[in-house]
Amino acid sequence: MFKNIYFTKAELSCRCCGELHFSDDTLRRLIRARVRFNKPMVITSGYRCRDHCASIGSTMTHTTGQAVDVSVSGGRAYELLGIAIEEGFTGIGIKQHGSHKGRFLHLDDLERTGPTIWSY
Ligand SMILES: [Zn+2]
Repeated sequence: MFKNIYFTKAELSCRCCGELHFSDDTLRRLIRARVRFNKPMVITSGYRCRDHCASIGSTMTHTTGQAVDVSVSGGRAYELLGIAIEEGFTGIGIKQHGSHKGRFLHLDDLERTGPTIWSY
């Protein structure tokens, strides 16, 4: 990944092994969204290795370095969702129930037949 003032290597790296293979194009998209959002965007998951995905029982969407989970809820989640769609994130996962601390939006720009959205 390239150096930037918004996101650190640590927050975009795999939580189990520290490996980082994040897409520069996705990072540019993320930065555009962050600049428009103009508030902190806490990344709870960026790149994940295949072993880590397997160990937490998640899909492999994070293994391409084109996906992030952003800790956000309520009105801020609404705002970020609109910006993310406008900036071209085409895979949107929504977890907006339970305690606010655990709520997040998954944003990715994986190649698919078309944009998609799902809930957790
Ligand atoms: Zn790992």
